[in-house]
This record gives sequence, C-alpha cells and structure tokens, in this order.
Amino acid sequence: MTQTPHKEGTFGTLSVGAPLARSLREMQYSQPTLIQERVIPPLRAGRDVLAQAQTGSGKTAGFGIPISERVDPRRHGVQALVLVPTRELCIQVADELGRLGKGSAIRVLPIYGGVGFGKQIGGLRAGAQVVVGTPGRVEDLMQRGDLRLSDVRIVILDEADRMLDIGFRPAIERILRATPAGRQTGLFSATLPLPVRELAQRHLREPVTVEVHPERATVDEIEQRFERVEEVDKLEALRAYLDNPATYLALVFRRTTYRADKLTRDLTRRGYRVGALHGRRSQNQRQRVLADLKAGKLQALIATDIAARGLDIAGLTHVFNYDMPDTSETYVHRIGRTGRAGETGTAVTFVTADDEDDVRNIERYLAGKRDKTATPTGGGPARGRRTGPGTPRPANPRGSRRGRSPERRRERTSQPR
Ligand code: AMP
Repeated sequence: MTQTPHKEGTFGTLSVGAPLARSLREMQYSQPTLIQERVIPPLRAGRDVLAQAQTGSGKTAGFGIPISERVDPRRHGVQALVLVPTRELCIQVADELGRLGKGSAIRVLPIYGGVGFGKQIGGLRAGAQVVVGTPGRVEDLMQRGDLRLSDVRIVILDEADRMLDIGFRPAIERILRATPAGRQTGLFSATLPLPVRELAQRHLREPVTVEVHPERATVDEIEQRFERVEEVDKLEALRAYLDNPATYLALVFRRTTYRADKLTRDLTRRGYRVGALHGRRSQNQRQRVLADLKAGKLQALIATDIAARGLDIAGLTHVFNYDMPDTSETYVHRIGRTGRAGETGTAVTFVTADDEDDVRNIERYLAGKRDKTATPTGGGPARGRRTGPGTPRPANPRGSRRGRSPERRRERTSQPR
C-alpha cells in the first residue's frame, strides 16, 4: 500500500475527474475513508446502496462524491435530493456537498424549516441542482409548487434511523413517490432496526449492502488520555513518555510523510531508537522497520495513517496521536492498534487549542460505545494537564492503567530493547 500524494485524477484507490480532484485537494482529502472506498464504486455504477455507517466515518463524501459526478452542472433544476433529519445536519451536509461540487460549479441548496421561505425559493429558482433538505420543508416547498422532483436522478436518505425516530416516515414515502421511478437510491443509517430495513425493502432495488463499523471492541480495553499541549511542546511531551520504561512499544501518528520523517530525525538525533513507516518508504524498507520492531531493536514507530492501516503489532503498549486524526473513524482505527487481543493499552492524544472541536467530535462518536472505565482520563482536554518544557514529565504516564499483571509488566520491561 502506498500513500499517494494527492494527484490530479486519483483519490487513493479511486480515480476521479479533474474538477473533483480540485475540490478534494482544496478540502485536503487525500485518501478515501473505508466507507467511501466501499460505497462510491456501487453508487457510481448506478446501484442502490444500503449503508450502515456512523457520523464521523466520512459517509457524507461517500454519497457526495457520486452525486457531484452525476449532476450535470449545465442543466437547471434539481437532479439530486438528500433527505436529512435535522437542520444542523442539513447545513453540514450541504456545506460538504457544496465544497465537493465547487470544482464543477454545482449549486447546492440547504432547505429546512424554522426560517422564511424567501431565500430557499430564490435558490430553487436560481437553478439549484442538489437539494439537501429536512422532509417537512421539502414537502412544504413541493406543495407550494416551488420544488419539482421530476428530474431527480439520485436520492439519498441520510441518517434514516433518526428520520424515522422523528416520525418522518410518511413524509419520506410521499417525497419518494414524487421522484421518478427510475431514480437511484442510497440509504445511510447508523443502525438498521426493522423500520429502516422495511423502508429499504420498499424503496431500494436490489441494493448493495455495505457495513462499516467503528473498531469498537478494542476501545474498551484502551485507556484514552487527551493532553493539552502547545504545538512546540509536543516533542518534549512525547519524550517524557518515551523515557518512561512503561512505554515499551509505541506507535506515533503524524499526519503527513514529511512530518513523520521530521519527527523520526528529531528523535533519532536525541538518541531514541525509532523508525519511520509511511507510504514513501519502499516495501523493503517497511519490512525492515517492522522486522527491527519485532526483534526489539526499536522503541517506537513513527507512522502515517495509510502505512498503519491493518497493522497488527503484538505488544504495542502506547499509541500517540501526535497530530490529530482527520476523522473520528481514524481516531478509533489508530488507537485500536493497541489494546489488541485482550491486552490493555494506552492512547495519548496531544490536543492543541485548534483541536478542541475535533476532540468533541471524537467524544460524540464514541459516546455510547465506550464503557465507563474507558472514559478519557488525564482530565479531558478542557481541564487537561498542560505539558511543556520545564514541566516535569507526566507523573506516571501509565497512571491508572488496568489489567496487566506485575509479572507480565516485569517480563516486558526487562527485555532488551
Ligand atoms: P462525516 O462522517 O461525513 O460527517 O465526516 C466526518 C469528517 O471527516 C468530516 O469532518 C469530513 O470533512 C471528514 N472527511 C470525510 N472524508 C474525508 C477524507 N477522505 N479525508 C479526510 N477527511 C475526511
């Protein structure tokens, strides 16, 4: 697997046209997420799709990319309709689709209740091609004759479980009946209870089913810490951990190849035995670094997300999010490298002031999937310990770590590194 620097025409394993490539580059999406890899090909092929995916998985671009490819920017009128349960999601999804469609100048319009009709009607008359709407307002505009769905080619039901919980089922049914029978339909839902499956059965034709679950099982075994730290102090914060024998084997994530190399150099210069693992390394180099790690010659690997995909390193005690992950799904994926096979592990995320929104998104993503013992420790980002030069190293980085017996710990720490 290689980490492709973003090239015109490529999006990881998927090829994309030049306008979309431009949008993706601007959004700094260089690789598809798992859900995108799985739903984009069938949606592109015109198939109906039933997808189980959570918020944070990148599902919006999963349907947004095929929509922006399907819509003809020269034609006036609504060609794609996305139904969403809430006004907030409506704005968020429209914003993402707007950014995806920017390269080809596709007009995206959010329509939701609680505000006047004027601006939304104006947007429709101006020739909106993609409408993202809440079912109530979509119906209102249909009834007034301002929204016509006869040219719609693709309909997405986003967060279908929430829409049904709110009681939108009759409205959804009526809206779907107003669209052409030959349309393509995608249904995205975090859960697939019976009412959602029934809805899919009635309105999807031989759908391709895609399920993407967060790597939930391991999260409960992982102690999660979020540490407030300034960007310039991250190196010292990491060193404090690496100097502690409890950090037996670590995987440190950086966002780019360049940053991974830089950190590898900075640590090597200071006497740490570390290796870099990223897509610009040859297969041979990568195998060597993994062999060195297995042989106990390295204390830490500095990796990018792409290189670390699917890695299963036995005995990994710590994962560090030196740079914040792009998505909540990536967060779960990263920290799931430790705490495998019944072992406990520690995940430390360095949080700068700019990262706080991302942390809140991660919290939301994990809510309900996490048992109490795995609640982030270290005071959470808001009250988190500030680590920096002149600050003593974290008192005991393994702190309240659970699980591993003293014998096991001794056996690990006494091995030659
Ligand atoms: P969603 O699950 O669609 O709400 O997406 C969650 C977050 O992931 C959003 O902030 C997106 O902007 C971001 N995102 C989606 N796809 C990608 C990608 N391929 N690379 C980086 N970030 C992404």
